[in-house]
Amino acid sequence: MRTTGRYRAAARMIAAIGAVSLVAACSGTGGATGGATGGGATGGYPDRNITFVVPFSAGGPTDTVTRMIAEPMAAELGGKIVVQNVEGAGGTVGSGEVARAQPDGYTVLMHHIGMSTAPALYKDLGYKPLEDFEMVGLVTEVPMTIVARKDFEPETLQDLVTYVKANAGKVTLANAGIGAASHLCGLLFQTAAGVKLQEVPYEGTGPALTDLVGGQVDFMCDQTTNTSGQISAGEVKAYAVTTPERVKSLPDLPTTTEAGLPQLQVSVWHGLYVPKGTPQDAVQKLTGALTTALADQKVVDQMAKLGTAPVPAGDATPQAHRAKLEEQLGTWAKVIADAGVKAS
Ligand code: ASP
Repeated sequence: MRTTGRYRAAARMIAAIGAVSLVAACSGTGGATGGATGGGATGGYPDRNITFVVPFSAGGPTDTVTRMIAEPMAAELGGKIVVQNVEGAGGTVGSGEVARAQPDGYTVLMHHIGMSTAPALYKDLGYKPLEDFEMVGLVTEVPMTIVARKDFEPETLQDLVTYVKANAGKVTLANAGIGAASHLCGLLFQTAAGVKLQEVPYEGTGPALTDLVGGQVDFMCDQTTNTSGQISAGEVKAYAVTTPERVKSLPDLPTTTEAGLPQLQVSVWHGLYVPKGTPQDAVQKLTGALTTALADQKVVDQMAKLGTAPVPAGDATPQAHRAKLEEQLGTWAKVIADAGVKAS
């Protein structure tokens, strides 16, 4: 797990010095003809680099899933995919940037459940999820885990509830900003526990996990695609997984239902988006490449190791993606309104 830690540190350093683009994948003989600025004079899509925007920090779970599929997608498309981390405001900064990008198929957003929570949280979001994007397809649905610094006093989820109630003023809960999955899960936890805690926002849960391991914050909710390594290595204390079933790769971790907090159920679905108006030919090629990537045994194995799996083939489509987003926008609008939470 030290390797993971080093990777995170290196990735953050790259982001910090402003080199936000990392070449994620490159095929040998495909249609890519240009450098980072492209320049393929003719030919079909793609004829230059495609940028995949991740609206959270490098090294975190959304970034991890993006990089996993970027390579096989690039190979299928016959081009190059560059991953760019555009962090901020719970994923809404990067999403807004993609909504306003040229609709030419060369800017693609990887986002998660946050696409469906942000409209209920932000007054002036600056984009409309259903109107300003074309959906490419769903990617994966990832369980969340509730994890704490290794030496945090509570031993079980029930202990945690009791402890945070008694120490509400001093316990810190990390998240990736308002509207992030970690924020949403933290909100559900606080609602279930009947407590209001001090939240510490990061630009992604990659850096939040580093601080958790370092003992700078007390606990958080985050995807297994970020926390599995640290849980298995015993670098964090893990209380529960937020799905109805246990996660195969973390067999000892109880579900929130088993651990006595059945109200806390959430899993983090991810999807790929392009700006509204992107040519259908490009959308179809991206969907095709996504389908191929999700069937890639290497991707399946990598995901399984991190507690998740590709969506069923039929869900990696614009239709299934749109239906999911519509349903989720309604679900979370109600939960968030009931909780009375707003981004300031
Ligand atoms: N897991 C983060 C979230 O809470 C995002 C990330 O860093 O990928 O939404």
